[in-house]
Amino acid sequence: MRTLAGVGSTPRSGVGTARWYRPDADLTLPDRPDPDAVDAEAELARYEAARDAVREALRDARDRTAERVGEEEAAVFEAHEGFLDDPTIVEDVEAAIDDWTPAEHAVADRFDEAVAQFEGMEGRMAERADDLRDVRDRLLRALLDDGGDGPPAAADLAALPDGTILLAERLTPSDTAALDPDAVAGIATVEGGRTSHAAIIARSLAIPAVVGVGGELESVADGETVLVDGEAGEVVGDPDKTQRAAARESGPDAIRERVETDDGRPVEVAANVGGEAELDPAAERGADGIGLFRTEFLFVDRESPPTEDEQYAAVTAALSAFPDDRVVVRTLDVGGDKPVPYLDLPDEPNPFLGRRGIRLSLDEHADLFETQLRVLLRAAATEEGDGLAVMFPLVTRVEEVERAVDAVESVAADLAEEGVDHAVPELGAMIETPAAAFLADALAERLDFLSVGTNDLAQYVMAADRGNDAVAEYHDPLHPAVVRALDRTTAAVEGTDAWVGMCGEMAGDPALTELLVGLGFDELSMSAVTVPEVKRRVREVDADAAASLASEALACETRAEVLDALGLDDRPA
Ligand code: PEP
Ligand code: MG
Repeated sequence: MRTLAGVGSTPRSGVGTARWYRPDADLTLPDRPDPDAVDAEAELARYEAARDAVREALRDARDRTAERVGEEEAAVFEAHEGFLDDPTIVEDVEAAIDDWTPAEHAVADRFDEAVAQFEGMEGRMAERADDLRDVRDRLLRALLDDGGDGPPAAADLAALPDGTILLAERLTPSDTAALDPDAVAGIATVEGGRTSHAAIIARSLAIPAVVGVGGELESVADGETVLVDGEAGEVVGDPDKTQRAAARESGPDAIRERVETDDGRPVEVAANVGGEAELDPAAERGADGIGLFRTEFLFVDRESPPTEDEQYAAVTAALSAFPDDRVVVRTLDVGGDKPVPYLDLPDEPNPFLGRRGIRLSLDEHADLFETQLRVLLRAAATEEGDGLAVMFPLVTRVEEVERAVDAVESVAADLAEEGVDHAVPELGAMIETPAAAFLADALAERLDFLSVGTNDLAQYVMAADRGNDAVAEYHDPLHPAVVRALDRTTAAVEGTDAWVGMCGEMAGDPALTELLVGLGFDELSMSAVTVPEVKRRVREVDADAAASLASEALACETRAEVLDALGLDDRPA
């Protein structure tokens, strides 16, 4: 038995048989020919064809990942398409080819230069080097493959034998997204950080992972039995019997019943879904319901808004998948980084600070809002509609909630007049802005529940665009100001009939479960894959100890102090 230290990335353990993945070995470039022997026009055509093939493959990977993992994780492939078509890279590669460099060498030279630039940067920017390597390797594979006897395809990562522990120098996001989480018992890499997209995808797939082990990982041979402990950040060669048994127990088995803390406080652990395809996986992972049903997916990738009947079918499908549970449907939340071309959203210099969320629903898109409310009130009256709850996004004013509630009442009156069956579901607001957090008591008075969207809340509290890597370290749910905004929200529902949940990414980090329970959240909603692990953590929590932990975190003035209070080395911001 020998132990190698790395960085724990997916907080669970797995044991299995080591298998090295060395894709670079296949990508040896042919020697550079004499410039006279290069037909620049033909090389340009090869480069174009390779880019077309890679673009198509990236779009397939995007769609597959969106379906299997989630929209947010799939976005990395859109970023890859950005690298593929980056005008400066494309121009430089074309110029090199014009200068009689064969296409594969022109691509390798230019991408290696970009990789080196990113590697020289700090933090998350350095991790973008992995994304560039991924695009470079795809292009090289496409180029080297076109002679018929090109390189063998890299090992088929989608078809690894059961119980594989995959070892690699580093994994790209595409590599990781191809893995079958039922077959792969763990991942360990020589390089890489826990906020790289590959690590995020592994986490979403719930595959135990340790990254950044360093060159010592090479001492593990193919075929050896290995334990990957993503919690301790360790890779153990030849683990003993007790370690193996413990690793098997921490497998991703779903806990199907509702959970409570060790001392009996119930906490609902629900799933976020962005489409009908995600409903069954959420149920399979043991989610207690849906804490966020993003209705935007019904509106994107089409030419006109969905009809009332189409929307009704989607909402009732969610209710049927969770007939005994709560299903929280969010009304349309477009604008910001979620454009919908046919809606003619205003072109604004600062879209995240512009017309988005409830603002659009109450004004220029009141018609769409009315249709959505008709759908929701009709669905609430169905046999499985008892658990339906509806929430409004990006609230900043009490008046918005009052107008939204008035709209619900007016739609109820219309349906009554038409003789259509309907019921008014639970109504809630998302707490995604400092304004909403400061007014949480006033909102809770008027509503049945509040649900904190930490993705936006951290963005607005910290003045850090959630999509901008350059300020990623500021977009930090563990910054004391964000933690205090969470407390302000949970304190506001105390002593009222309203309940409070969280549906931002923060809710799905099992290392933060105790803090969130201690802050007083009644419900946590997350990507389905982390549901079993968070349920396991809830059961281990002692509610009083969690409340003390929360008080300690609330007294902190820096992120470092919060991490220290939580006993954590580091977390992605
Ligand atoms: C959030 O902002 O945390 C949230 C859950 O909503 P979205 O990510 O869809 O903006
Ligand atoms: Mg949001």
